[in-house]
Amino acid sequence: MGFSIAIDGPAGAGKSTMAKVVAKKLNFIYVDTGAMYRAMALFLLRNKIDAQDAEKISIKCQEADITIKYENEEQVIYLNNENVNGLIRTEEVGNMASASSVNKEVRLKLVDLQRKLAQTADVVMDGRDIGTHVLPQANLKIYLTADAGIRAQRRYHELKIKGIDSNVEQIKKDILERDERDMTREISPLRQAEDAFLIDTSYMTIEEAVDAIMKLYKSTLI
Ligand code: C5P
Repeated sequence: MGFSIAIDGPAGAGKSTMAKVVAKKLNFIYVDTGAMYRAMALFLLRNKIDAQDAEKISIKCQEADITIKYENEEQVIYLNNENVNGLIRTEEVGNMASASSVNKEVRLKLVDLQRKLAQTADVVMDGRDIGTHVLPQANLKIYLTADAGIRAQRRYHELKIKGIDSNVEQIKKDILERDERDMTREISPLRQAEDAFLIDTSYMTIEEAVDAIMKLYKSTLI
């Protein structure tokens, strides 16, 4: 088992941004578990599976082979041997990921892959259930959150930079729906682990939030 930092929290709180920077600073591997759920969602969308059809999802998800490779220090997600990094960042895929991630078979499959990665390397892993379920023994647990309106603004700007026009009110609505579903689902809902440190990034710069995490990391070494 390597050293592991678990970062959980709702959509748009800054998890992946912080996790990437911290991983680089520490020379750890960054594991974006949301990307795995997104790759699975893309597979289900392509197969025209209805988000509400739990039975079909349970069966079909077995045909999706999701793997992670590290190329030029970047996490690359492969779905049945196809690099899908460029296809999973849409709102459509994000919403389907939230809907299909309630499924037990989907979670079993992806959690297994996540635990294997943490066994072989030092990782910064971000998601919704890392500190509570995937890596309950993580050396450091962070729960990152921010005001929903601010999280929606961040997503809006992220999309705008990519040339995608969107509506900030619609994004806020989607974010709130997704949070609700992630927090109330039966299996591994999103919640702060008892031993996780809470960081609210609403009014923090990236540097400030990274510094806060690095301080906590250093305190675990004493
Ligand atoms: O973090 P991201 O927005 O990429 O995650 C997409 C969706 O995948 C989340 O809304 C959540 O439902 C699901 N997810 C999860 N458990 C994780 C990571 C993501 O259920 N560890």
